Amino acid sequence: MIRENYENVPCVGCGFCCIQEPCTYGRYVHRDEAWEGGICPSLRWTGSRYVCSLVSRRDRSGMFYSRELKVGEGCRSNANPWRVDVRPRRGKDDH
Ligand code: SF4
Ligand code: SF4
Repeated sequence: MIRENYENVPCVGCGFCCIQEPCTYGRYVHRDEAWEGGICPSLRWTGSRYVCSLVSRRDRSGMFYSRELKVGEGCRSNANPWRVDVRPRRGKDDH
């Protein structure tokens, strides 16, 4: 696979990555649940940003998910339009 270079920028919690393309873990953990608006049930709006409740766990599983999902290593979707308008979304097409 060819990857373009990208500038690493901080995560602002816009939710674009999770809502556009939920990760493997979210798909597995919530495989039997309804996904309102197609949004991973682990994705939570805090009032100012989105967070993942799997990586927020204060146990070894949280450490595992954080490491696997590279939490803290920045955003790879630095040009996505949601970054400059952080708010709750109803789904993928809520631009
Ligand atoms: S798209 Fe980038 S800024 Fe938005 S939640 Fe994902 S990592 Fe964070
Ligand atoms: S909210 Fe967490 S579990 Fe769901 S897609 Fe995002 S990173 Fe994955």
